[in-house]
Amino acid sequence: APATVTLGDHFARTLPELALAWRAEPAPAPNLLVLNERLAAELGLDAAWLRGPEGLRLLVGEQVPEGVTPVAQAYAGHQFGHYAPRLGDGRALLLGELPHADGRPRDLHLKGSGRTPFARGGDGLAAVGPMLREYVVSEAMHALGIPTTRSLAVVATGRPVRRETVLPGAVLARVASSHLRVGSFQYARATGDVDLLRRLADHAIGRHHPEAVEAANRHLALFEAVVAAQASLVARWMLVGFVHGVMNTDNMTISGETIDYGPCAFMDAFDPATAYSSIDHAGRYAYGNQPRVAEWNLARLAEALLPLFADDEERAVAAAVEALGTFRARYDDAWSTGMAAKLGLDHPAPAPLVDDLLALLRDNRVDHTSFHRRLGAAADGDTEPARELFLDLAGIDAWLVRWRALGPDAAAMRRVNPAYVPRNHLVEEALTAATEGDPAPLERLLDAVTAPYDERPGLDRYAEPAPERFAAAYQTF
Ligand code: AMP
Ligand code: MG
Ligand code: MG
Repeated sequence: APATVTLGDHFARTLPELALAWRAEPAPAPNLLVLNERLAAELGLDAAWLRGPEGLRLLVGEQVPEGVTPVAQAYAGHQFGHYAPRLGDGRALLLGELPHADGRPRDLHLKGSGRTPFARGGDGLAAVGPMLREYVVSEAMHALGIPTTRSLAVVATGRPVRRETVLPGAVLARVASSHLRVGSFQYARATGDVDLLRRLADHAIGRHHPEAVEAANRHLALFEAVVAAQASLVARWMLVGFVHGVMNTDNMTISGETIDYGPCAFMDAFDPATAYSSIDHAGRYAYGNQPRVAEWNLARLAEALLPLFADDEERAVAAAVEALGTFRARYDDAWSTGMAAKLGLDHPAPAPLVDDLLALLRDNRVDHTSFHRRLGAAADGDTEPARELFLDLAGIDAWLVRWRALGPDAAAMRRVNPAYVPRNHLVEEALTAATEGDPAPLERLLDAVTAPYDERPGLDRYAEPAPERFAAAYQTF
């Protein structure tokens, strides 16, 4: 790798207890499937070089710049409510930190780079399909203005991966403000080393919530900042119909970025019970449960941080409870403001109007994204595109009359209600084609979802609801 790629080791130096030096498995036949040239430029990386043989060896972790030591990060986590004391990067590595054009550093991280000592029973690998899925969905989220980890590249490794069938393997190069998770704090707390916990918290403050240093109790201020960031994030998910699918505490960041695009999906028909992951039998991570799960995860973060809040445990608990208590109001506020904007209103929407709309959407199994986009036309008087999504025409007509009386702004609605999201049937189509060697459908889908508010000719089918049969049976995992 050339001297121009400079990777920092701030995390590994500050928190050696959470950083296990490790190397990626070599890729027998690296082949670049997709490269994010704009993101590369923001990171000061030369796209032409990344496409070349040396660049590809960096993107799979096979060759890193002189002096750089990739690390597997240690973390714990509650998985589906059950505590696992030692998770960590089983198939991922942090290469180091890169400067970004906005002045804040980014992690360059690889997923699917081979087994690490945290791999337990896993093979350390990732298949092409799921890594492309993360690339598409995370870049779509970014284009929607939702905080998220980014995707720099997906490189096919030439190594087969054994799942239910044998699949081609790949490495995703991921970029994030950091990979600090609730589970990182659970891990540090469980060591019993309060100095480590304090170092971790101070590292997180410096990296994500620097305003907390000014506070009388900076670690409590850190917790409050994470509560605020997560309340806002989950509200954004809910407003676009995003179902994360695996909101374990190791998959919730301290930065407030969405992380770990596994069984995630954008909801087709609106229904709070929507869950796509076949392993989520109880629907713990269903669409409608996401705010409550986020709050539950933040309670686990508070427990981990408790020794830093106050020496006296009772006082520490009281402070944590009070800070966590702000989650609901913050979430409700973010959601209500966002919903008013979706409805084209510059003031809060009356609660009964919103409740009645959600009931109509659910009872009529209406496509969430299409409805909100078509409602923009209805604000201009063209109600038919929205109406045709409903069976209960009397119900939606009565609702439209109440809503239009409030004077919605159609142009403002088109700026907040996307035309294009990575709909499940389109994602599946693109991943299947790409896995079989045809990149064209993936490129078209990326083209659509990375400019989601700007409706363009030739992309009509990307704005249409899924075929009924597809939507009913869909599972991501
Ligand atoms: P996730 O459900 O993706 O958040 O992963 C949970 C844990 O399982 C993390 O510690 C991952 O590193 C680990 N893991 C997931 N898949 C694999 C794999 N194929 N090989 C090794 N570890 C894995
Ligand atoms: Mg994870
Ligand atoms: Mg995962």
